[in-house]
Amino acid sequence: MIIAIDGPAASGKSTIAKRVALNLGLDYLDTGAMYRAVTFKALDKSLNTEDAVLMGRLARDLSLEFKNKTQGDNICIEVFLDGQDISEEIRSPRVTASVSAVAKIPEVRMAMVELQRRLAGEKDTVAEGRDVGTQVFPKAEKKFFLVASARERATRRCKEFEEKGYQVDIDSLERDIASRDAIDSARENSPLRRADDAILIDTTRKSIEDVVTEILEHIGRKV
Ligand code: C5P
Repeated sequence: MIIAIDGPAASGKSTIAKRVALNLGLDYLDTGAMYRAVTFKALDKSLNTEDAVLMGRLARDLSLEFKNKTQGDNICIEVFLDGQDISEEIRSPRVTASVSAVAKIPEVRMAMVELQRRLAGEKDTVAEGRDVGTQVFPKAEKKFFLVASARERATRRCKEFEEKGYQVDIDSLERDIASRDAIDSARENSPLRRADDAILIDTTRKSIEDVVTEILEHIGRKV
């Protein structure tokens, strides 16, 4: 069984997808973390991120491992690249600023989608991203598309960055989010789009618990 949760940057997907996965006892797959890992490696090696062939090769050869750890009512994901823990690095502002440009390269997407299907093929999974319901798992049992206003999303991201010790300006965060949305929505290959059969949920001014409850009700489970 696959539950697909898609939506734009900082719409609450990760937190909500993790809670839903925990509640249903399913695995959790963060597809954004994969695009972030490719971007991290490219930046770390000072590669030309506009070279599609090079980036495709990098994505195909990536030795990526995920470990999901349950901590109370949360799942903490650890990402290992070539055996090195890069969980923190992939969330840095530097990676965040470049990831959408890397994720629009078709060769990169092909490699990542293959990996996503392989991982989710092994276990029942809640998968979150941008194209999970449209491209990666078009036959997912249930699909959700989460949205929220750009300001609310910037406020959420600002809080997350500050908790991690990064100093960020909310207006520039809002601009970055809007620019990432624009690249993700306009790209030719697997753009950010609600699948026709996905349930739309606006998370603006809703608590995480409310959204999780709403999703579980759609799935037919009580919290
Ligand atoms: O979800 P997250 O913000 O970590 O995703 C980082 C970036 O990865 C997105 O802005 C998008 O460019 C890309 N992405 C994608 N397809 C997915 C998941 C993420 O293109 N399924």
